[in-house]
Amino acid sequence: MSITDADIKEYSSDGFEEHIVKGVAASPGISFGRAFVLDPDEPVDPSESIAPSRIAGELDRFHSALWAVVEELSRALETAREESSTATNIVESYKMIVEDPTLAREIAELISSGVSAEAAVSREFDTKMGFLKQARDSLMRTRALDFEIIKERIVAVLRNRTLTNASAYPSIMVAPTVTPQDLLQFKQTATYGFVSEVGGINSHSCILARDMGYPAVVGIRNATNRIPMNAVVIVDGHSGSVVVNPSTATLLEYQKKVSREEEYREQLGAIIDQPTQTVDGHRMRIMANIDEPDQVELALRAGCEGIGLVRSEVLLIKLGRYPSLEEQTTWYRELAERAYPAPVTIRAFDIGNDKFRQGIPHHEDNPALGLRGIRFLLYRPDIFKAQIKAVLQASVNRNVKLMLPMVSTVEELDASRLIFDECRKELLAEGIDVDPDLPVGVMIETPAAAMMADTFAQESNFLSIGTNDLAQYALATDRMNDLVSDIYDALHPAVLKMVKMVVDAGVRFNKTVSVCGEVAGHAAATELLIGLGIRELSVSPRLALELKQRILSTSHANSLELEKRIQNCLTAKDVYAELGQNHHTDDKRSSKA
Ligand code: PEP
Ligand code: MG
Repeated sequence: MSITDADIKEYSSDGFEEHIVKGVAASPGISFGRAFVLDPDEPVDPSESIAPSRIAGELDRFHSALWAVVEELSRALETAREESSTATNIVESYKMIVEDPTLAREIAELISSGVSAEAAVSREFDTKMGFLKQARDSLMRTRALDFEIIKERIVAVLRNRTLTNASAYPSIMVAPTVTPQDLLQFKQTATYGFVSEVGGINSHSCILARDMGYPAVVGIRNATNRIPMNAVVIVDGHSGSVVVNPSTATLLEYQKKVSREEEYREQLGAIIDQPTQTVDGHRMRIMANIDEPDQVELALRAGCEGIGLVRSEVLLIKLGRYPSLEEQTTWYRELAERAYPAPVTIRAFDIGNDKFRQGIPHHEDNPALGLRGIRFLLYRPDIFKAQIKAVLQASVNRNVKLMLPMVSTVEELDASRLIFDECRKELLAEGIDVDPDLPVGVMIETPAAAMMADTFAQESNFLSIGTNDLAQYALATDRMNDLVSDIYDALHPAVLKMVKMVVDAGVRFNKTVSVCGEVAGHAAATELLIGLGIRELSVSPRLALELKQRILSTSHANSLELEKRIQNCLTAKDVYAELGQNHHTDDKRSSKA
């Protein structure tokens, strides 16, 4: 984000006290704007109004929140029916409230008159509760509590999107946590980066921020108290600092930094058309990790040879619901057509954990170990089948692949293949043109899958190592938890040993093994990954050219030597020392408080 002279004039905060708040650099780049501080516990302002231009969007937001709560309750009802009739009655009574068409219409009318969705929900529910609380019948009075619960639920769902209340000027979101949903609203709300109190750099929000090019700094305790609403802030996603109330001198300094960055990017453009190979001619392939069809051109322009990972669940997050087979077919076709003749690897929905959770029947204490990825898809074959069929229908040009997330057992692959074959058969019987040999690959993201890599290599068409999750599960460290972020490391020897096992399995069964986790784009890791035998790296398009530059200056012979030395490392710190890098614990605050 360039800083113009006019910006410097408008945003310099001379006269206010400039200060720097330090956190963890989570998405590179520099951006600035006024702080939009989000406090999820803030009470709803019933008089909150919206501009007429936002009414249609606000109505959509309300309807999708309502839909999300209906869906949540429908799943809860299934479980409640197995539990007891009391539980069933409770959930049914909640469901009656959210499904009441009169209530929904009254809320929609209020929104149409220029009231925000949160305020409209709050007002209508409060009116209903007011009547119920005065009722003679004690049963009716208790019913008021049901309305309170449902109101809070709808507001909570809406609150994931409170960013839409952001301002008329460029903003930086400052929040306790930032969700992938928030990120998807940045464009509409002129939000150019974020600062959060918690969150590991490999959370999906941070990955999305890097993919979308939004600078981010995470792990700033009490950020929402330390950064005042509307203060001018600069987010420096390289150093992990946030400058609050920058002076003219500081803005000028950042203006120079940004233009140096832009110059560097332009210079990198010169290598786009060169073949991706090491100085001694070892061929490598760079693919792109993307989230939506719009990013295909960006990836191809950056010299990527195809799309190595489409995080298809981003479509769900964006819509706030499950799309129909037709909607999905259109989306995947667009991806395939834009990329053609380059290949596109669509990952089946990785639902659960910190991502989309609609359809998960009840609260999970350990969602990362729960009904996630392929487990969810096998639990809901209706959803899985619709996605497989849509992917198959997008394969007319034979450049589409399907990849299964979070596989941990061979049974999961077998069951998925059965469903896949059934879908293919059904489509072929209907006379629909699909790729009869559409490749189905497995993501290696769990230690169990790494240990069984031979079988997965034998029984699937390709493997892709998801090091973000492999590190999480191998080291038993939540990738989003900054309290254990000093343990979490995709370059830990335990993870590297697994990567090597998978590469060897790929060689044995002549299957491609790529790495699509964030480590594929890390400057420190390129030589080592080449030495480990990885030939394909899938990264955010924004990192592709820098990665290529590193490959062009790496010697394959040296990388093999490096890998041999690293086999003797016992700790991540030793690995970093071999790589000539500081380990991140060296500059980490010693206290986790
Ligand atoms: C991974 O786990 O490395 C991966 C690429 O998947 P995600 O980050 O979406 O979980
Ligand atoms: Mg993963």
